[in-house]
Amino acid sequence: MSLAPSMDESTASLLLCPECGTQMPSTAAFCPGCGCPIPTAPKAQGKIGVLPRRVAGALAYVTFIPPIVFLLTRPYRHDRFVRFHSVQCLLLCGAGLLVGVVVRLLAVVLLLIPMLGILLVGLLSTLVGLAACFVWLILVIKALQGESFQVPVLGAFAEHYSVPV
Ligand SMILES: [Zn+2]
Repeated sequence: MSLAPSMDESTASLLLCPECGTQMPSTAAFCPGCGCPIPTAPKAQGKIGVLPRRVAGALAYVTFIPPIVFLLTRPYRHDRFVRFHSVQCLLLCGAGLLVGVVVRLLAVVLLLIPMLGILLVGLLSTLVGLAACFVWLILVIKALQGESFQVPVLGAFAEHYSVPV
């Protein structure tokens, strides 16, 4: 590995490729030796109850009802992956309500501006709506891929409360 940039910081940040055994920085997305992708975290697999675990994780984002059901019923409430996505969805629902209130308050103020106000309100609600759809789509796709994608700030709380009880 003479071509690899010198990594003097610490050997603790080195990973071994599960396929060929080549050393690489822990931040590598692909093995420099064989090119196989390196998963950053173990992906969710298998079934939980009647559902594939990944589908349950994605379902946790479909309104606030499935995550509540998951957090209250077995075997889902004991599964870290499903719990993480359920808690994250509920936190996002709460954040969404808050954003909705803020947007309405802003709209009231903006509507005081003649002519331009109604345009700004339309623009604002369109942007917020698009952003919400975008985040939701990413979360569902990531869950279906078996990943525990963390939303900034809220994701850390979700991770904290995802430890099965
Ligand atoms: Zn390799």
